[in-house]
Amino acid sequence: MMKRWWVCVALMSAMLLGAPGCSTNPATGKSQFNVVDEKQEIQLGVQAQPAFTKDNGGEIPSPAIRSYVNDLGHRLAAASERPQLPWTFTVVDSSVINAFALPGGKVFISRGLLAKMTNEAQLAGVLGHEIGHVTAQHIGQQMSQAMVLQGVVAGLGVAGGASNNDYLRVLGMGASAGGSVYLLKFGRDQESQADELGVRYMSRLGYNPVGQLQVMEILQKEAGSSNTVEFLSTHPLPQTRLDRLNALIKKSYPDYNTTGKYRFNQDEFKAAVLDPLKTLPPPKPAPAAK
Ligand SMILES: [Zn+2]
Repeated sequence: MMKRWWVCVALMSAMLLGAPGCSTNPATGKSQFNVVDEKQEIQLGVQAQPAFTKDNGGEIPSPAIRSYVNDLGHRLAAASERPQLPWTFTVVDSSVINAFALPGGKVFISRGLLAKMTNEAQLAGVLGHEIGHVTAQHIGQQMSQAMVLQGVVAGLGVAGGASNNDYLRVLGMGASAGGSVYLLKFGRDQESQADELGVRYMSRLGYNPVGQLQVMEILQKEAGSSNTVEFLSTHPLPQTRLDRLNALIKKSYPDYNTTGKYRFNQDEFKAAVLDPLKTLPPPKPAPAAK
C-alpha cells in the first residue's frame, strides 16, 4: 500500500498538466493512479470498439444471440459500481475461445467460447469478470504502467496532453493498426480481483457463483486440447486463481449449494444460444498465430 502511494505521488509530481491523477476506485475501494480520466476512458473504448469487432471476425450473424448476450451484459453492468458507462457487449464471429474488455465498458465474447458453455451462470461469470476489469480500471492501470515504461508519460506535460491515438498505441491499437492488435496482459492479482467482482455482479442477479468456477474448468480443459484458447494469453489462469475463487465462494456465498437460492439456467442458455448456434454457418477459421 505504501509503495502504491509513493508511485502515485511521484507520478503526479512529474506531471503538471493533463487529466492523470490518483482516485479511489468505486469497485475496489482502493486508491489508484490513472493516466486517463473517465471521459477519456469512454472515448478510447468508443473509438476502438469497431476496429476490435472487425479484427475479431465481426459480429455474429444472429440478432437473437446478440441481443440475448447484450441484455444479460447490461443487467450485470447495471448491478456494478459503474452503471453509467456506455456499456456494449459484442459477440464476435470467431471460433477462437476468448473474451476481453476495452476501457469505458466495451466487452467482447467470442462465439467459440459461447459454444463451449452450458448454462447462463457461466456466461454471467465471463461477462461479470470482464465487467470487473472495467469497473476496477485494470486496463487504465496497465496502460499507466506501459506508458511510464514507454516514456509516454514523461512527455505529457511538454506536449500538453497525449492524444487518443497515443493511448491507443499503448494499448496496441494504433489508428492504422492492420491486424497487429494485442491486449495488455493482466496480472495475477487483477485476475483474482476481476473474478471476485464478477461473482459479486452475477450473484446480485441470482446466478450461482459456481458458474464462474465451471468456466475456468472449461478453459483448462480446452487449453489442453486446442491452441485456440486466446483467453488464457491475456487472462492468466494459474491454480492459485482457482483456489482463491473456491475459497471466496465458500466464505462469501456459503449458501451457494442451497436449493433454490441461486440459479444456473441451463435450459434457457440452450434455447437462447446453443440451439441457434447450430443453425448458423460455421464461424470464420481462427487466424494464424501472429
Ligand atoms: Zn481477466
